Order: sequence, then C-alpha cells, then structure tokens
Amino acid sequence: MINITDKRNCTGCGACVNICPRNVITIVEDGDGFVYPKVDAEGCIECHLCEKSCPMLKDMSEICKKHAEFPQFYAGQLKNRDDLLEVSSGGAFWAFAQIIIEAGGVVYGAVQEDVDHIYHVRADNLDGIKNTRRSKYFQSETGATYRQTKEDLKKGLTVLYSGTGCQIAGLKGYLGKEYEHLITCDVVCHGVPSRKVWQAYRREKEEREGKKISELVFRDKSAGWSHNQYKITYQDGSIEKEASTRQLFHAGYLKGLFYRPSCGCCRFASLPRAADVTLADYWRYEGRFHQQGFDLGVSLITVNSEKGSKLLRLSSKYLEYDTIERTLALKSCKHLDEHPSENPDRPNFFKVFSEAGYYAAAREYIKAGNDISLIKRIVRKFRILVRL
Ligand SMILES: Cc1cc2nc3c(=O)[nH]c(=O)nc-3n(C[C@H](O)[C@H](O)[C@H](O)COP(=O)(O)OP(=O)(O)OC[C@H]3O[C@@H](n4cnc5c(N)ncnc54)[C@H](O)[C@@H]3O)c2cc1C
Repeated sequence: MINITDKRNCTGCGACVNICPRNVITIVEDGDGFVYPKVDAEGCIECHLCEKSCPMLKDMSEICKKHAEFPQFYAGQLKNRDDLLEVSSGGAFWAFAQIIIEAGGVVYGAVQEDVDHIYHVRADNLDGIKNTRRSKYFQSETGATYRQTKEDLKKGLTVLYSGTGCQIAGLKGYLGKEYEHLITCDVVCHGVPSRKVWQAYRREKEEREGKKISELVFRDKSAGWSHNQYKITYQDGSIEKEASTRQLFHAGYLKGLFYRPSCGCCRFASLPRAADVTLADYWRYEGRFHQQGFDLGVSLITVNSEKGSKLLRLSSKYLEYDTIERTLALKSCKHLDEHPSENPDRPNFFKVFSEAGYYAAAREYIKAGNDISLIKRIVRKFRILVRL
C-alpha cells in the first residue's frame, strides 16, 4: 500500500490512483494545498501495484532512457502568426498536436476550466485540444487519463500525451512498458504552486478590489512575448494586466515560496528527460525568427528520442525550426537540466500566511517587481528594441 512519509517523495501524478484495481485510492488536498493519494485501507488487497507504478520508487533508468544520439536541441516557431498569439512560446506543441490529430491520433493535455481548476483532457479533434494551449501555472489533475491512454494504445491509436516531467514519468510508471504508438511531450517546469495559497490570494484580492475574478490568463502576449503578463478579467468586465514578474502571486511563485515540496528536489527536471520531446521558452534566442517576430515567441525544443525526432520532422508543415548548440540551450533554460530550488523562507512564508493571510506574508517575503533590477529591465528592453 502506498504510504507517503515524506511529502517530497510524491508528485501527485496519479499513477497509483489509475492503477489500483479496486479503485480505493483517491486524491485529496492536504492542509498546505497540495494533492496526495489516500488509500482506503479496508478495500486494499495488498497487490502492491500502486508502489510498483510509482515513478518515485522506480529506478530512474526505467523512466528516463538514454539514447546515444540524443538529446538534440532546436529553436522553433509556428508559421501561422495568428496561432502564435494563442500559445505561450513558439507553439511547438500546437504543431505537434495538429500532426497527431490529422493522422487520426489522440492528444492529451492540460486545460483550464475556470480560474482555479486545471485538469488533463483527451481530444481526438482540434477543437477539443485548443484549450490545452498556453501554460497554466497550477498543477493539473491527471484524473483517469493514464487509463484512457492505455485503452487508446491497446486500440492501436497513436497518442501524444503532454504534461510536466513528473506527469510523463507517472504515465510511464503506470504503463510499465514501452508502446510503439505513444509519444510523450513534457514542458520544462518551474514548479507548481499551492492551490490553497492561490485561493487565499484570490479571495483577498477580490475583497480589496470589491469585485470577483472571472478569468485568468497566465501568459498574455498582447504586450509581446518578452513582456509576459498576467491578465485578470473581473465579473464586471474590467481587465487588469500586469507583468508576471511584478504580479504579486506570480512573483511569490517565481521565488519558490510556495512550491509543491517535491518540486524543490524534482527527479524529472534534468537530462535525460522522461519524454520524447521537451518544450520550453527560448528567452535567449538569437536567430532568423527575429525578422519575422521574436516577440511572438520562440520555442526551445529538446528532442530526446527517435520518436521525438520523427514528430519534429513531420511538424515542419506548421513549424519552422533550426538546430542549435547544447550550450546555448542550457544557457537559455537552466530548468532543462536543473530542478527549481526551494526558497529557504518557505516555512516562514507559510507560517505568516496561515496566521495573517497572503498579503501579510507577501509584504514580508515578496517584493514584487524588485526581482528584476531596474538596470536588468532597461537592458532587456534595449535588447528587444535592437532585435525589432
Ligand atoms: C507549470 C509550468 C511551469 C513552466 N516553467 C517553465 C520554465 O521555468 N522555463 C521555461 O522555459 N518554460 C517553462 N514552462 C513551459 C513553457 O511555459 C511552455 O509551456 C512551453 O514552452 C510550451 O509552449 P508552446 O508554445 O509549445 O505551447 P503552449 O500552447 O503554450 O503550451 C501547451 C502545452 O503546455 C501543457 N500545459 C499547460 N499547462 C500545464 C499544466 N499546468 N500542467 C501540465 N501541462 C501543462 C499543455 O498540456 C500543452 O502540452 C512551464 C510550463 C508550465 C505549465
């Protein structure tokens, strides 16, 4: 029976929930706002499948396989400019998804139902997969999608499953073997924040503003990709946009003050990665996409296997891409090969937060906007102007 004694050892991926033959494992939220499996001991038949499927208990070589000629690194951007406005980076995922759907396959990814709720869905058509676009900075619930994936694979369908590294590792742990028609895609992940902290922030903000939030977009590109913004829409129709680094909740997230405990020691945030292809923002891109619009977004694509390589080749119908050096890729994106680090102030933050709320804790531990110094901001703006 799965028994979590150290919360750093559970990512909440849901492999155990999906594999349990008696359906006696459920996912529940703890006091800090992170989900963990809970076993109904009375119904448990001690088959130990939950432990066998857990990616945290497996040898890493079973999850993240090394391939001699990989990883390979690329910069990519969608050819369609309208589509580029709907994605977080250069839209490599949307190119992959279109190729799989056109070939009669199915795609799994994370959608946002409302302001607080992110979960994984299965889609066999483009309309169904549209809402998986754009990064949502909360942990997505995988639900029964690992089981559904297995059913699809058994039917001979090609499946593209996307998610964070730990979710791809969870799927692999659940499946327990390689499937020829399964292609996996992970996003480089900066960690997932506490839902409880978000909900408290939201409540306090709504009280201060005197109006309810009806919609949240984590990655608004209207001021340009490099001026990444949070866009909050209120029920009265008013809209608030704020640079992510200065946004009071996102600034705390970026500082690692309220990550899931397993994120600060993530096993799946380094090379070799668990997925066939890994996507990230290519912030330090210097190349030909500048002519057509650097500020529309550029994807950093890491191909980890032959399957990933084939998918990238097929996606050239929708995606332009160029090979890049490993050193440039790692220089641009440290979380490609390094897990995020937990802030030493995390326990103090949670203490003040639980006693006095989000804004009180933020006053002490987050100085939103000061994360990027004025000089750095001027340099960044200058570099963008020079590129345009
Ligand atoms: C929580 C999180 C943290 C990230 N941290 C970084 C980072 O530190 N550095 C960096 O370079 N890139 C990071 N990314 C990845 C980056 O923001 C883009 O998602 C990635 O470059 C893909 O962009 P795209 O334009 O190809 O596709 P998009 O259309 O922007 O993204 C769609 C893809 O993201 C997946 N996705 C969206 N939200 C979630 C979620 N909550 N859980 C699981 N999967 C999700 C969808 O399933 C789909 O595969 C992060 C993404 C997430 C979700």
